[in-house]
Amino acid sequence: MTIFTQKSFNNHEQVVFCQDEHSGLKAIIGVHNTKLGPALGGCRFYPYSDEEMALNDVLRLSRGMTYKASVAGLNLGGGKSVIIGDPKKIGTEQLFRAFGRFVNGLNGRYITAEDVGTSDKNMVWINKETPYVTGLPTYFGGSGDPSPFTAHGVFVGIKSALKKQKGSDSLAGVKVAVQGAAGHVAFNLCRELHEAGAVLYISDINKEGLKRAAEEFNATIVEGDEIYKQDVDVYAPCALGATVNDTTIPMLKCSIIAGAANNQLEDEDKHGDMLRSKGILQAPDYVINAGGLISVDSEITGGGVGHVNAQIEDIYTTLLNIYNMADQEGISTVAAANNIAKKRISDINVINGIYKGEE
Ligand code: NAD
Repeated sequence: MTIFTQKSFNNHEQVVFCQDEHSGLKAIIGVHNTKLGPALGGCRFYPYSDEEMALNDVLRLSRGMTYKASVAGLNLGGGKSVIIGDPKKIGTEQLFRAFGRFVNGLNGRYITAEDVGTSDKNMVWINKETPYVTGLPTYFGGSGDPSPFTAHGVFVGIKSALKKQKGSDSLAGVKVAVQGAAGHVAFNLCRELHEAGAVLYISDINKEGLKRAAEEFNATIVEGDEIYKQDVDVYAPCALGATVNDTTIPMLKCSIIAGAANNQLEDEDKHGDMLRSKGILQAPDYVINAGGLISVDSEITGGGVGHVNAQIEDIYTTLLNIYNMADQEGISTVAAANNIAKKRISDINVINGIYKGEE
């Protein structure tokens, strides 16, 4: 078994394996990079079929958080944690408090938050053991559900992509295919798109939520993989990762991919280049979906909602800069975003005089 040389290990500073026999906790905390600040990233609770899958997930996601915080201009590093198991079966207060004690042991190098399979209520339990937790409910002095903030960032990001591709960022009559429309982010996104005059085509495996979204936003329901084949301007993946791949790219008729899902490209290098040669503009996922992170960051900085909203509006120009850099350098948009993320980290290194060179 190799760890340090694995592609996904990717220069992680620290990986912590946590076990609490009493509560059944089995967790991994990945601290990718703390040069810009403490590594903040959500805690994913998922019934991984094997431990290697859990390890790969945490490593991949925590690197993504480093880049997300860097491009968003936040004073945060990148980290993530996963708890292995079914949250409905083992997600007790006891387990979350055991996890909180491990987080506390890192003394602020890692700050946790909610993610897939965890809720703000779980964060309150973690908070009984450690102050290094964000995403607390508003009644608890936290920033509450990050999804509407993420959704607004995606909305702003779709507008910036339209500006680049079509010369106008108006959404009137623009056709958007939203995958995962019943979800927390996508439902809010659909509302904003509908109010701005977009025409929506939506899919979800949650049939009830899908019907509700269709009724509320006058949207057309699309079954399963048909979502990729729609004759639309924008494909907004808001459900799963890796939906942009060898199979789906040939199906796409859109000229823009802009959605909330993490790790949309199955293979960042290969599929980033494929999209570029097909003339499809992709808003790099960790840039367009940074609204939630910006919101939870305000729990650390004490910045008010006005500051949060202003930072989210900045996603528009950040993305335009990325699109223009990709054009000038003849590279994919994700490669341009990665370069910007790495440069901010290495510039800070130089300023601090601690470390020079590539992250
Ligand atoms: P969610 O679980 O509320 O929504 C996901 C939706 O996708 C659900 O309605 C689910 O039924 C649907 N879905 C699952 N499989 C599907 C499939 N095969 N086809 C169509 N729909 C399917 O999650 P969310 O919080 O809305 O997040 C959505 C995505 O955005 C995730 O990838 C998440 O990692 C990412 N993201 C979320 C936030 C946030 O603030 N919530 C922030 C950054 C990134």
